[in-house]
Amino acid sequence: MTQPNDTLFGKIIRREIPAKIVYEDERVLGFHDIDPKAPTHILFIPKRYIPTLNDATPDQAELLGQLMLAAAGYAREHGFAEEGYRVVMNCNAWGGQTVYHIHLHLLAGRQMVWPPG
Ligand code: C5P
Repeated sequence: MTQPNDTLFGKIIRREIPAKIVYEDERVLGFHDIDPKAPTHILFIPKRYIPTLNDATPDQAELLGQLMLAAAGYAREHGFAEEGYRVVMNCNAWGGQTVYHIHLHLLAGRQMVWPPG
């Protein structure tokens, strides 16, 4: 990490607060959302601290792709690939971001609606 990360997700990465972790590799962590908005709701986060999507840089393109592939892999392994699922990243206040460490939501297990609220 290049900057201090005192967000909730920084604490989860450092195992200072508990989370139901379902995926981990060298660069990405996946865990159950504490307040699920779908029958399956997993958050995929980079271990490296990036506050918002606005802060992502071209050298982090591969890392951002790894979040997507981790979510797709989880969906496939848990039987959601065919029926479908949604991945979402909220950015800043109007995007509905509440935790300032980027995270990709994987929502699955019900019919999604469009447009989102
Ligand atoms: O995109 P946004 O920033 O709103 O998403 C943050 C998510 O983090 C929420 O869905 C919230 O339920 C989740 N959360 C969590 N564990 C915490 C605090 C928040 O899973 N300790």
